Amino acid sequence: MSESSATAAGSPLDALGAAARSWMQSSDVHRLLIDGERVPAADGRVLTIVDPATAQPIATVSNGGEEDAERAVSAARVALRSPSWAAMPPARRARLISALADAVEAHASELAEIEALDNGKPVKLALAVDVTLAIEHLRYFAGWPTKLEGSVLPVSQAEVHCYTRHEPVGVCAQIVPWNFPLLMAVWKVAPALACGCTLVLKPAEQTPLTALRLGELALEVGIPPGVLNVLSGDRATGAALVDHPGVDKIAFTGSTAVGREIGMKAGRSLKRVTLELGGKSAAIIAPDADVDAAVKGAFQAVYYNSGQACNAGSRLLVPAERYDDVLEALRERATASRLGPGLDPHTQLGPLISAQQLERVLSYIEEGRSAGAELVTGGTRALEHSGGYYVAPTIFSTTSDELTIVREEIFGPVLVATPYESLEEAVERANAGAYGLAAGIWTNDLRTAHRLAASLHAGTVYVNRWGLSDPAAPFGGIKASGVGREHGREGLEAYLETKTVWTGLA
Ligand code: NAD
Repeated sequence: MSESSATAAGSPLDALGAAARSWMQSSDVHRLLIDGERVPAADGRVLTIVDPATAQPIATVSNGGEEDAERAVSAARVALRSPSWAAMPPARRARLISALADAVEAHASELAEIEALDNGKPVKLALAVDVTLAIEHLRYFAGWPTKLEGSVLPVSQAEVHCYTRHEPVGVCAQIVPWNFPLLMAVWKVAPALACGCTLVLKPAEQTPLTALRLGELALEVGIPPGVLNVLSGDRATGAALVDHPGVDKIAFTGSTAVGREIGMKAGRSLKRVTLELGGKSAAIIAPDADVDAAVKGAFQAVYYNSGQACNAGSRLLVPAERYDDVLEALRERATASRLGPGLDPHTQLGPLISAQQLERVLSYIEEGRSAGAELVTGGTRALEHSGGYYVAPTIFSTTSDELTIVREEIFGPVLVATPYESLEEAVERANAGAYGLAAGIWTNDLRTAHRLAASLHAGTVYVNRWGLSDPAAPFGGIKASGVGREHGREGLEAYLETKTVWTGLA
């Protein structure tokens, strides 16, 4: 593992370009966005936002409370009907969403730099993945308002006309995590806007900056006030939205524990809900696989975004006869990785998001060690002198599926590898866990590819690639990985209600 300029002195803001720095310094407190206005929290509370690469404060934002949730939900409810976002001619709504895509594109570098600073991820990744995909999602969903057609139904009653209308579900509370702050926001905002819903977006307490900027850009392009409100804040802010009777639908991405709680509350209040939760996804290298490609892919699958991805390939199942070679190749890659702050263009792996996440990941590593898993590489905090929350890319080897590090989502740069004897055994072991977000196969045999794709219990199966994402391709989990799908037509339908209209003709 090599080091980059993690120790450079000065303010973390020094590494930003002019536009990003100017926005960061535009206000002492980055305030809530409610009904088109930037307003402080009613009770004046704020959150300090920290650079995970240095632990230095970089911004202060308002911490929305119950009163702010009330104002934001009321604004969204008014905007739904008047000036009527829901009933706006679809072509106009489409143009406004396209205009937001254009604005995000015009501010791409600024957004990527703010994201790299706030989240710690490499700025190249923030630009190529977070911002680029955010633009693509907005463009894709901008195509939908003009295509939300109902059907005329072939009912058997005489002298009646029966048809369906697809109507917006209403006011949406959209609660997102810190690992892909802008992208997770857009995954939810874009289909909601396309369907004519209005929303209150609640970014994670660690990473609220790009969501606030997105809200500003939405206003600048002419999306009416109250349609897209941004309530920065903590868990209590999220809970206030979930509990609010004026919310019709909750869309949540985050931990399974919080997802369960939100699901229970939504069940009691009968709010619509979609939950995109954690994962412990297994990649299987088949005996016939191209090992070089598999090692490269398996490495990316787990260490991408420093392992802080819900679909991280954090388990690896390797044929026993190739196990030592695969582990050695992975170890070499891990030790050659360059850790550093997101704004350093040479960084491959950024820090973890927070001191709490660092603690959590290190305690999993300790647990793995003491439970008897073999530590192949890593296992320690890295670049400690920088003050940042770095963990060295870590690989464990174990034959047991019972260890906590095999069963639980670590959400850090930790791979757990296991040898297997037969593909059937590998599939059984991959399917044994509580989660079902993603799974992957590395093989050159078409039969193996499709046989395993059908047998693996997961919302997404990757074959000879990992982590592909597209606004047209549904994404979501089964079992403890969540409820519902985002993206594509299915993602859109989560923001629509179907109304059936019967008309007597005689
Ligand atoms: P979290 O689930 O606690 O937080 C995610 C979002 O939900 C944040 O915006 C948070 O403020 C909000 N929130 C928290 N509690 C809430 C509540 N009771 N009601 C309403 N909103 C609430 O996740 P975290 O603490 O930031 O991360 C912990 C773990 O979650 C990670 O280690 C990881 O395992 C998992 N995680 C998963 C994803 C994913 O993409 N699936 C993303 C981030 C974190």
